[in-house]
Amino acid sequence: MAQEDLFKKIIAHSKEYGFVFQSSEIYDGLSAVYDYGQYGTELKNNIKKYWWDSMVKLHENIVGIDSAIFMHPTVWKASGHVGAFSDPLIDNKDSKKRYRADVLIEDYMAKIEAKIQKEVDKAAKKFGDSFDEEQFKSTNIRVLANREKLSEIKKRFVTALEKDDLAEVKKQIEDLGIACPISGSKNWTDVRQFDLMFETQLGSVSEDASNIYLRPETAQGIFVNYLNVQKTGRMKIPFGIAQIGKAFRNEIVARQFIFRMREFEQMEMQFFVRPGEEMKWFEAWKETRMKWHKALGFDEKKFRFHDHDKLAHYANAATDIEFEFPFGFKELEGIHSRTDYDLSQHQEYSGKKIQYFDPELNKNYVPYVVETSVGLDRTFLMILSNSYTEEKIEQENGKVDERVVLKIPASLAPVKLAVLPLVRKDGLPEKAKEILNTVKYDFNCIYEEKDSIGKRYRRQDAIGTPFCITIDHETIESNTVTIRDRDTMQQERIAVEKIHEILTNKTSFKDVFSKIN
Ligand code: ATP
Repeated sequence: MAQEDLFKKIIAHSKEYGFVFQSSEIYDGLSAVYDYGQYGTELKNNIKKYWWDSMVKLHENIVGIDSAIFMHPTVWKASGHVGAFSDPLIDNKDSKKRYRADVLIEDYMAKIEAKIQKEVDKAAKKFGDSFDEEQFKSTNIRVLANREKLSEIKKRFVTALEKDDLAEVKKQIEDLGIACPISGSKNWTDVRQFDLMFETQLGSVSEDASNIYLRPETAQGIFVNYLNVQKTGRMKIPFGIAQIGKAFRNEIVARQFIFRMREFEQMEMQFFVRPGEEMKWFEAWKETRMKWHKALGFDEKKFRFHDHDKLAHYANAATDIEFEFPFGFKELEGIHSRTDYDLSQHQEYSGKKIQYFDPELNKNYVPYVVETSVGLDRTFLMILSNSYTEEKIEQENGKVDERVVLKIPASLAPVKLAVLPLVRKDGLPEKAKEILNTVKYDFNCIYEEKDSIGKRYRRQDAIGTPFCITIDHETIESNTVTIRDRDTMQQERIAVEKIHEILTNKTSFKDVFSKIN
């Protein structure tokens, strides 16, 4: 299936089956703001649990907090966000469409990368097992020319951004002949910086009201609580503080469903380490976080690291974990070595000493920080992109049936079990409810008695329910049910007492965790 079609189908499916709705849809929606529906919310909660437990339960030295969205306005001065948290914006004069200038150039570079990859794939096919990718890339003339081109574009682009030379960014867009993807026009406005922070007033009387911001990242809530947590939790370095919460950015471009939203959720962990040890921890967290994504069992080739070309003012190392979304490889998670920048800044602006006494070194210092920051909504989209499957099924009568199935890992699936009485009589609904009562306290289950069993299976496939049990006449006689596996569609007759055990084994995070621990 073409990737563009896949993306459209995922969006339509998310709406049709209660995963994601446009916010305020009855008023024609609000741009780049989305609501999660009944199954989307369950999936989101399960992703949060996967992340939270992998951080807080699996690591003795990581604890979690929940800080407020509103913070003292000086926080954002200290962090460097005020006046500097912006993206370069450019408008196309003909289509009136707005773009991020850096993203236009990055997308241009991604097209060259795709060309290189195409050459590599072609050669790999031709040479089979004897193919040496590295050798090919360093000798093939077309690949070399494209790599050279890429490196020149990157150099010019990074230099312009570092110097904050927006006229040069525009010139590069023009020199590369980048056209508006919608209209094809090359008639661009100048590039200017656009402030991403939302501002509002705190206080009821306008004279007393102070301007505050909706937080653009959750990290600062962790930094300003560093002393509280370290002291009350008697934490010893190295240690981490984790947090899941909403963040707000007035994004310039909002055309990619839940990939880029104006209100979104982050799962962030700040790991406090000894100065000088940050690179060791940066490498360790890179590895752990990549394992976390891969442990879900999806195609590993869809994940890659992408080191930052231009480091943020606070970082001495930074990489992204990128995932191949239907619209290309894009950032899913950022891992940054933030040095002692944030804590030092808060120390200076607040006038409070924010330091750690290291008994082993017998000295005080401002800890260094390694941050892992993953978007909850982007993880959600990554899971949907990997799970959405269309299958053709040959029927016994020779007809071909189709099904859409979300192959969501069982531990993350919104509903774990559907309980389906074969017919709505002969005591089967009563028996089904009795069985439901034995599992519903531990697992999210659905009871359904309407429509044919085939239709009911299809509905469960479409929301990714890993198991369905059917209660039939034999259930009454022998206290057994048939259990159907979503992916194989195989059915097996099992004793009713076995249901709980099967669900426990197949839907817990234990297996997934064993791959990252
Ligand atoms: P991008 O370059 O895509 O704008 P970023 O580098 O600004 O992202 P970070 O500040 O590193 O992103 O934020 C950490 C994570 O938060 C990102 O990896 C992403 O998963 C998520 N995130 C950031 N902005 C958004 C958004 N507008 N909508 C959804 N998720 C987001």
